[in-house]
Amino acid sequence: MTDFIRFIGVNKDTTTAGPGKRLEFFTKGCIRGVVSPCFGCFNESTWTFEGLSRNLTVDEVVQICDRDAWNRQVTFCGGEPILQAKALVKVAQQLKEIDPDFHFVMYTAYKLDTLMKYGLKFTWVKEKHGTAMRDALLDYAADVEGIKFDESKGEAVISEFTILTPEDVQEVMKYIDLIVDGDYQQEKRLTTSEYMHDGWFIGSANQRVIFGPETVKSGTLKYIAADEYNKQRANKAHCKCCGKMVDDTQNFCRNACKARYEERKLLKRTLK
Ligand code: SF4
Repeated sequence: MTDFIRFIGVNKDTTTAGPGKRLEFFTKGCIRGVVSPCFGCFNESTWTFEGLSRNLTVDEVVQICDRDAWNRQVTFCGGEPILQAKALVKVAQQLKEIDPDFHFVMYTAYKLDTLMKYGLKFTWVKEKHGTAMRDALLDYAADVEGIKFDESKGEAVISEFTILTPEDVQEVMKYIDLIVDGDYQQEKRLTTSEYMHDGWFIGSANQRVIFGPETVKSGTLKYIAADEYNKQRANKAHCKCCGKMVDDTQNFCRNACKARYEERKLLKRTLK
């Protein structure tokens, strides 16, 4: 396994990928996108494993988050970030050691219950999936076996990947605070106009918002439907820094958030 992560881009202060304004990373590569894309996927350019990507080491991503996630809110979106979860978990773990206020969201089209039970496995077939996907999976996967070679060409044509073991999935839930699971279904879209606000999840109503650390602690899946999550936050006041719900009379959930927000405001004014 390598120590770098493939991305296609990063957005600052996005308001549609979880609580508050978030630093949102888009990972490169989505098996589902290559095999059978979600209809209406908003991010086709992330599907393939070949082509342009920006490869960053775990340490580089840690530095970027520490510098740019002014309110400590970070989202890993795709593509399919869970393919690179082993490295992304290292990022989250290191950042929470630097500052326990770091809060992470990850989107995945896979269902968490299945991942918890079986891990994430995938049979790669050269003819169907191409060599770039295999090269990437060799970097990400916990294990590879069942390799069949084409002797005449001296190359692998089939490989059975264990991308994540159930233990790896537990690590994901330990460090990723909210995991949005399930494929994107356009007919159930949670509309942007309705939910374009600090702290919403844009996706589809079939998706769930899973509370990672609470699930690990209790041993059972703790979640709320994504549309329910949004409804609960509708017409409520939110902390201007981290996006937590607050009383209508408050702008911040605590003094540390207020200080962060003021510092950020000052910096923006200075840079003008
Ligand atoms: S919505 Fe996500 S999981 Fe589905 S094809 Fe697009 S990038 Fe892949």
